[in-house]
Amino acid sequence: MPFFICPNCKNRSLDHDGKQGLLRQGVSCERCGFGFLFELLDDYYPGPNAGLIACDRAGRILAAGRGVFELTGFREHELMGKDVVEAFGLAGFDAERNPIALALEWGVRRLDEPIELRSRAGSVKAVTVDVFPGYDSDGGLLVSLSPRRANRSRA
Ligand SMILES: [Zn+2]
Repeated sequence: MPFFICPNCKNRSLDHDGKQGLLRQGVSCERCGFGFLFELLDDYYPGPNAGLIACDRAGRILAAGRGVFELTGFREHELMGKDVVEAFGLAGFDAERNPIALALEWGVRRLDEPIELRSRAGSVKAVTVDVFPGYDSDGGLLVSLSPRRANRSRA
């Protein structure tokens, strides 16, 4: 049974009666009215500070949720259509272990990968990324970025 998550408010819903699948074009979040839900194979509980980004099968940004601005300083309209890795300056992974490329290529989840992003103001932030391939045939990805706790010895 597919699970749906709202990239904006992170509300999770179950497709109890198959209705959401049939009405996918017009489906919107019951809680905040956001006009886009992401379909997941497994249920997912994003952290309270997580920012969710939905991407197409080429890794281009389709939607960015509420938490993304707090974390990165980018507004959704500045991100639309951009490559998710480039838009956030994602780095800190080995070239062969880019979690986003792996998820796109192999259709596998990547959880709890420590990476870095570059905020709109240019500062580098340590984050954790979870990446989920889309459940439906359109492919695509859900990227969840969460702040990593600062290393105390560096504070
Ligand atoms: Zn919502």
